[in-house]
Amino acid sequence: MSTHYTGLIERYRDRLPVSKDTPVISLGEGNTPLIELRNLPRLIKKEVRILVKYEGLNPTGSFKDRGMTMAVTKAVEAGSKAIICASTGNTSAAAAAYGARAGITSFVLIPEGKIALGKLSQAMMHGSVVIQIKGNFDDGMRLVQEVARDMPVTIVNSINPFRLQGQKTAAFEIVEELGEAPDYHALPVGNAGNITAHWIGYSEYICKDTQACALCKGKCGFHKEPRGAKRPIMLGYQAAGSAPFMRGAMVDHPETVATAIRIGHPMSWNQAWKVKEESGGWFGECTDQEILHVQKLLAQSEGVFCEPASATSLAGVLKDLERGAIGEGSTIVCTLTGHGLKDPDTAIAQSTRPITVDASRGAIEKVIGENMAG
Ligand SMILES: *Cc1c(COP(=O)(O)O)cnc(C)c1O
Repeated sequence: MSTHYTGLIERYRDRLPVSKDTPVISLGEGNTPLIELRNLPRLIKKEVRILVKYEGLNPTGSFKDRGMTMAVTKAVEAGSKAIICASTGNTSAAAAAYGARAGITSFVLIPEGKIALGKLSQAMMHGSVVIQIKGNFDDGMRLVQEVARDMPVTIVNSINPFRLQGQKTAAFEIVEELGEAPDYHALPVGNAGNITAHWIGYSEYICKDTQACALCKGKCGFHKEPRGAKRPIMLGYQAAGSAPFMRGAMVDHPETVATAIRIGHPMSWNQAWKVKEESGGWFGECTDQEILHVQKLLAQSEGVFCEPASATSLAGVLKDLERGAIGEGSTIVCTLTGHGLKDPDTAIAQSTRPITVDASRGAIEKVIGENMAG
């Protein structure tokens, strides 16, 4: 039997809205590592099991690929020749790559000057038509919806329901690896599509009535009567300057170093409140300083490099462990939504400068002597 992995649509075909004739557009997304943190729990002196789902190892470096393989597959199946999205960066990178793979045109709207360098390079390199707007993500999202009403372009933002269908597979992978759902699942929240998708995934996975699942294809939302099996408590963390779920209202001028979640008018507003309610979870917020601190802590204590927005899930969990909201003995999964290489500027700005010396053995030995541990 071949073990060649060909992406999440093939792997979870029976749980996704595709038929045998659907032309699958895949770059081998999904199947990302679930890494148990070894050093950090010791550093914070807590008896907990924290695992990070490293979605930065998807083909374009973020979880957006899970949704994009489905959205572009269904767009192509429907005969669409062009896709469009508004993006804080990662959606545009994924749309650009999957659009190229499908041989269709992609249009991406990004906020001028507020997108991380790696993401911009991806959209440009894959040949998207990159449109920088003098506005923020929320302006872009509004414009995309207006334009798509009259022009033959398919929206591939998370308001496209196929996006969440693809993204729900991350929850399937976690349950399969752990044997059951974790006690808590933490995610950074921007549009709140991903936290919604995970809840759909956890809910569908425990629904024993697979026939019903196959019929509704998740359209019924969250299966109402899970049969006894476990689902996690869902935790959604926001950046303090961009935290509509904490304010209980839309935020008009969101600001944060975590540009991927610099969103003041979340598209999945109602769904995310429902997730909180149904799972018994909560929302929390972290300052930019806390986010960057944890991004660096994770990189230096565990060797895992994620982008600033992604560190928000772990930063929130560490705060809630500290204040006792999450008890010791818990198993917690934190989604690391995107790779650290996406945003090299922010990484370099908060790191120690390289040491410059003469090209001599003496100079190198001096540096080693000064920096040896113990
Ligand atoms: C898109 C994105 C998010 C936010 O996900 P939502 O579904 O919009 O809540 C978080 N982190 C990264 C890196 C992202 O690209």
